[in-house]
Amino acid sequence: MRLVLLGAPGAGKGTQAKKLIEKYSIPQISTGDILRKAVADGTPLGKEAKAVMDKGELVPDKVVLGLVEERLKQDDCKNGYILDGFPRNTAQAEALDAILVSMGAPLSVALSVDVDKDDLMKRLTGRRTCRNCQQMYNIYFSMPKTEGVCDKCGGELYQRDDDKEETIKKRLEVYEAQTAPLIEYYSKKGILKSIQGIGSIDEIFEKVCSVLEGR
Ligand code: AMP
Repeated sequence: MRLVLLGAPGAGKGTQAKKLIEKYSIPQISTGDILRKAVADGTPLGKEAKAVMDKGELVPDKVVLGLVEERLKQDDCKNGYILDGFPRNTAQAEALDAILVSMGAPLSVALSVDVDKDDLMKRLTGRRTCRNCQQMYNIYFSMPKTEGVCDKCGGELYQRDDDKEETIKKRLEVYEAQTAPLIEYYSKKGILKSIQGIGSIDEIFEKVCSVLEGR
């Protein structure tokens, strides 16, 4: 299954992707995670990306496309993958299509996870992420057993710099203007499926699986 997850920041794409990895044994390719790692490692790419990310804007297409193309060609993507946070605009979607045509393996499905704007704000401001394994928690909805500590690996939980209120507003604006049009883009290609991202993580996952498996 070659899957694109669509949805606003905070819609729960990353959380659902982590569950899909386990169920279908295919990797998650999160451009946000790749970029955050480059920032944490202090690479030249990370230094360039950090300022843009902290403002809630998009990193240049050329940079992200290079990262994704390299990743898609790795062996573990042979049986499929979950693209999370990519593509973010029409230019990236078109470039992705071209890469996949050249690889002879087009996308199977674009799944949109739909969530109301008010809910998104709470999900994003409450979000805490594990520095070590990127597992996500939420101080309003899904607290870890011990405050500040990851249940899975014991890593430290932190609030992403771009999960602060001002940046969140900007990220949601960027989503509406640049990423939301992809719903139409994939609908026209006939591969769009949608679910309401409401309910518990497991309830949403059940909806995700039933849509993906055509149940
Ligand atoms: P995310 O974790 O997907 O919300 O991404 C966090 C930030 O990384 C975004 O606000 C962008 O600054 C940057 N980013 C992630 N994915 C992309 C992408 N496909 N294109 C451009 N910028 C991206």
